Amino acid sequence: MKIIVCVKQVPDTNEVKIDPVKGTLIRDGVPSILNHDDANALEEALKIKDQNPGTTITLLTMGPPQAQEMLQECLAMGADDAILLSDRALGGSDTWATSNALAAGVRKIGDFDLIFAGRQAIDGDTAQVGPQLAEKLGIPQVTYVQKAEVKDGVAKVERALENGYEKISVNLPCMLTAIKELNEPRYMSIRGIFKAAKFPIKVWNADDIGVDKTIVGLEASPTNVFKSFTPKPKGQGVVVAGDTAKELAGNLVSDLKKKHII
Ligand SMILES: Cc1cc2nc3c(=O)[nH]c(=O)nc-3n(C[C@H](O)[C@H](O)[C@H](O)COP(=O)(O)OP(=O)(O)OC[C@H]3O[C@@H](n4cnc5c(N)ncnc54)[C@H](O)[C@@H]3O)c2cc1C
Repeated sequence: MKIIVCVKQVPDTNEVKIDPVKGTLIRDGVPSILNHDDANALEEALKIKDQNPGTTITLLTMGPPQAQEMLQECLAMGADDAILLSDRALGGSDTWATSNALAAGVRKIGDFDLIFAGRQAIDGDTAQVGPQLAEKLGIPQVTYVQKAEVKDGVAKVERALENGYEKISVNLPCMLTAIKELNEPRYMSIRGIFKAAKFPIKVWNADDIGVDKTIVGLEASPTNVFKSFTPKPKGQGVVVAGDTAKELAGNLVSDLKKKHII
C-alpha cells in the first residue's frame, strides 16, 4: 500500500503572541512543531504499515526550508520518504492555493492508495486543506476520523460527531483527516533518528511540480487575513457565597434582582 501523509510545521501555540500593531503572528524566536493532528495522521499510517509489510509512507509538506526539521522528526518516527514543496512562488498561499500546490505535489508523486491529513492546523485553524485536496484529486474523503481499519481496498472508519459517531466504508484511494482521538502518536526511535539525520529529503519547487503559478501564492489567494487580535479578557467572575444551598440560591436571586436580570 502507498500512503501519503500531509504534515504541516506550525508555531508552538503555547508560545504564540500577536503583534498588537500589525495584528499578525510574531513568529521570530517561536519554536516550531509538527501540527498535533498530523502526528495522529502519521501514527495511523505507521500502524497500517506495521500490519501490512511492503507499505510505504511518503510525507508531503509545503513550507519554508526549516520545515525539513519537522520532516526529519516524522522520518524518525518511521516514514519512508519526505517531500518539501518550497518556493517563493508558493509563499503566502491561503487554503485554496495551498491545496492547489499539494495536489500538484501528489500528482508528481504518482500512485497512492491513501492520503492522511490532520483535521486542522493549529495556526491557520481552518480545517479546509484536507477536504480541498481530496476535491482537487477527485477522491472520496472522510473527515474527523477517530477510528480506522484499512483492508482489501476499503477503509472502514468512524467519523466523530458532536454527540456520537458515524460508521463509514470508503473505497481506496481516499483521503482521511485525523483527530487526536484516533491514536497516541509514537516517539521517534533511536534508529529512526540516525536514519533521518542523513535522509535525502526531496525539495521540489513550483516548476518541479508543474503547478500553474496563477493558482498558487499570495497573489492568487482569494482570502486575506486583514486583522487578527487577542480578545480582551472578560471581567472577573463573581463568586456567590452561602453556607447552605438555600442561602446560596437566595443570594444568587437577590444579586440577579439587583442587576434587574430577573
Ligand atoms: C492566523 C492565521 C489565519 C489564517 N486565516 C486564513 C483564512 O481565513 N483563510 C485562508 O484561506 N487561509 C488562512 N490562513 C492561511 C493558512 O493557514 C495557510 O494557507 C495554510 O497553509 C493552510 O491552512 P490551515 O493552516 O488552516 O490548514 P488546515 O486546513 O487547518 O489544515 C488541515 C490539514 O491540512 C494539511 N496541511 C495544511 N497546510 C499544509 C501544508 N502547508 N503542507 C502540508 N499539509 C498541510 C495538514 O495535514 C493539516 O493538519 C491563515 C493563517 C494564519 C496564520
